[in-house]
Amino acid sequence: MKVGIPKEVYPGEQRVAVTPDTAKRLQKLGFDVLVETSAGCGANFADDAYRQSQCHIIADAATLWAEADIVLKVRPPQMHPELGKDETDLLREGSTIIGFIWPAQNAQLLQKLLERKATALAMDAIPRISRAQKMDALSSMANLAGYRAVIEAANHFGRFFNGQITAAGKVPPAKILVIGVGVAGLAAIGTAKGLGAIVRAFDTRLVVKEQVESLGAEFLELNFAEDGSGEGGYAKVMSDEFIKAEMELFAEQAKDVDIIITTALIPGRTAPILITQAMVESMKEGSVVVDLAAEQGGNCACTHPHEVYRYNGVTIVGLTDLPSRMAQQASQLYGTNLCHLLEEMGGASKYQVNLEDEVVRGALVAYAGDITWPAPKFEKK
Ligand code: NAD
Repeated sequence: MKVGIPKEVYPGEQRVAVTPDTAKRLQKLGFDVLVETSAGCGANFADDAYRQSQCHIIADAATLWAEADIVLKVRPPQMHPELGKDETDLLREGSTIIGFIWPAQNAQLLQKLLERKATALAMDAIPRISRAQKMDALSSMANLAGYRAVIEAANHFGRFFNGQITAAGKVPPAKILVIGVGVAGLAAIGTAKGLGAIVRAFDTRLVVKEQVESLGAEFLELNFAEDGSGEGGYAKVMSDEFIKAEMELFAEQAKDVDIIITTALIPGRTAPILITQAMVESMKEGSVVVDLAAEQGGNCACTHPHEVYRYNGVTIVGLTDLPSRMAQQASQLYGTNLCHLLEEMGGASKYQVNLEDEVVRGALVAYAGDITWPAPKFEKK
């Protein structure tokens, strides 16, 4: 069985679905690995490194798509800028594609996959159950984004994170507020603490208090009897009163902290605006906001998605490509998530789309001429 790794065509995307290292793991699972020329260049993996891993380098994208039984991608299929054709139309009829697909936002893509009689598995739809953690690409990428959010903040912040006493004077530590303590928020807290900042964090889910404190940060609480834990550990929509109360807390914090990192999301919804323009105006000159929810509309009213924007002396980072800015590491982790999924599916010799497997069924968005998303609730036997 052949797996094909095309070069990503989304503008600025540096990641690649499989690295020379993960290609070896795929071969151990019995797959032949075809890689498009320069597919790994943006992530520092040269064609030669893939050749040394016994991959076949294919010069032409159309040939690669046509030959592969399974295409492994990062970004959802889109118009190929050089071939002037949608990538979905490059898929051989009846073949399989695995990558981020975002089915809730991509109805047209699902329709195209259906017309192609393709099998499609969305890495963003892998169920978040313990057994599937090794395939959880959302968490892999969120971890990178949280880390990189702090690095971006440090880059735009003109001061140390740690407090210092030097011959030239005393330097106070930076104060950082992290809003939303999921995977990205926790990574941001750990990184900011590692750099020596004073870190505070807030989440609607009280269950994360212990995790925040275990990283040495302070968990901010409201005097409010409402908990945001929803189904499967995700956040639920909070009452208007709660949102008002948390925003009052943020208004106070905005005047005091140097950096705000926001990661507040509710699955399937636009991000709540939690940092208003007035809060940004109240921040000290030279402060930084990093809005990790920028792609979902943003948690900050002043965010310009995809951009770094200066407003009233505050830098607002709305970049949406943070994992791609760590392309080498991101590709390695993502490739490993893919290997685990293909192993779950039996490798090349026992490969099957097992509809009884909760992980496979959860990720399956198109199969046997049908749209199979959203997956039905899984009944435990
Ligand atoms: P996410 O990116 O969907 O959301 C980020 C955070 O924002 C969440 O912690 C949420 O509570 C918080 N939030 C939402 N609205 C808010 C508001 N108004 N104010 C403040 N905070 C707000 O989250 P995620 O990182 O994808 O994961 C969320 C949770 O899912 C995890 O903490 C965990 O419990 C669970 N999870 C489970 C697995 C697994 O079992 N395999 C893997 C990953 C995550």
